[in-house]
Amino acid sequence: MSRTYNFCAGPAMLPAAVMEQAQKEFINWNNTGVSVMELSHRSKDYMAVATAAEQDLRDLLAIPDNYKVIFSQGGGRGQFAAVPLNILGDKNQADYLLTGQWSKSAVVEGKKYCQVNESSILMPSTYGMVAVKPASQWQVSSKDTAYVHYCPNETIEGIEINDIPETGDIPLVADMSSNILSKPLDISKFGIVYAGAQKNIGPSGLGVVIVRDDLLDKARQETPSIFNYKLMAENDSMFNTPPTYSWYLAGLVFKWLKAQGGLTAIAEINAEKAKLLYDYVDSSDFYGNNVAAGNRSKMNVPFTLASSELDTAFLQQSQEANLMALKGHRIVGGMRASIYNAMPIEGVKALIGFMEKFERAQR
Ligand code: PMP
Repeated sequence: MSRTYNFCAGPAMLPAAVMEQAQKEFINWNNTGVSVMELSHRSKDYMAVATAAEQDLRDLLAIPDNYKVIFSQGGGRGQFAAVPLNILGDKNQADYLLTGQWSKSAVVEGKKYCQVNESSILMPSTYGMVAVKPASQWQVSSKDTAYVHYCPNETIEGIEINDIPETGDIPLVADMSSNILSKPLDISKFGIVYAGAQKNIGPSGLGVVIVRDDLLDKARQETPSIFNYKLMAENDSMFNTPPTYSWYLAGLVFKWLKAQGGLTAIAEINAEKAKLLYDYVDSSDFYGNNVAAGNRSKMNVPFTLASSELDTAFLQQSQEANLMALKGHRIVGGMRASIYNAMPIEGVKALIGFMEKFERAQR
């Protein structure tokens, strides 16, 4: 059976090589006679898996020594609550920059814990195009703000922010659920970077938190222990039983990424894939995308057809052509092709080939 190209925004496709390796060692990992998911998380064997995964992630992102890496539970949304609980400290307000649905969802959760200063950083729409203001124009609302939160890649709208704002002494917190590991990143600019795993890391449910160690002493007393960064870091993310199999799979993905040449190499491939698709959309008057060139996401490419009445036929025929999950998010409609690290360039070419054929058939 040939593998379907899966354009789902998450859970997303994982590299075929990783899936094959996981299958090969599924019931007998490393000659232990058991699956890695049946190993005690405290065993020497499993600890080696966990430690290697962390080290590989550190190598890929060049994470400085003064940052802890936490493998957490509760995916991306878990961190919407964990961030305020952990780093508000004695402050009672935080800034949230808005660019779309996910940054808004973080606000809804943040409001349970503090006063949220919301501000949109989108430019007024010019000719219907969506663009983000340059980071030099983003403002921190007050010196009493505990942190600034933003979402550098809005998965639903396909908006990516490449600028990293300067927030001085105020920690910058980034929800990188949908673009972590897609390109090199200067971690030292952030207080916290977090991500749900199901796009570029591994199976859903797992989350990764990279937190600067001076932020570890600020947790509110009522913070649940499993979300307490300090406690988790002190216990190597094993305060409770971690999602061991997901962590193992994440480790395989990190090794795969290293074998691809690391983040500089994958960023080049990601840029090439995104360019192919956006160029095609722009060259056609049948398909459209309304995000300004500088803010187009390299991971999530939303596009519309000439008429939304054609959506159902497009989805049905693309599915028949082994191109899966192209339906856009229900909030924005249209189509969306998520092309994370594991999507091979052949998948993008197959999609473009299908789009050409579909367009021709409408003439
Ligand atoms: N943030 C972003 C940017 C996301 O794309 C998602 C999931 N699509 C989430 C947060 C929520 O992640 P989870 O479902 O793992 O809680």
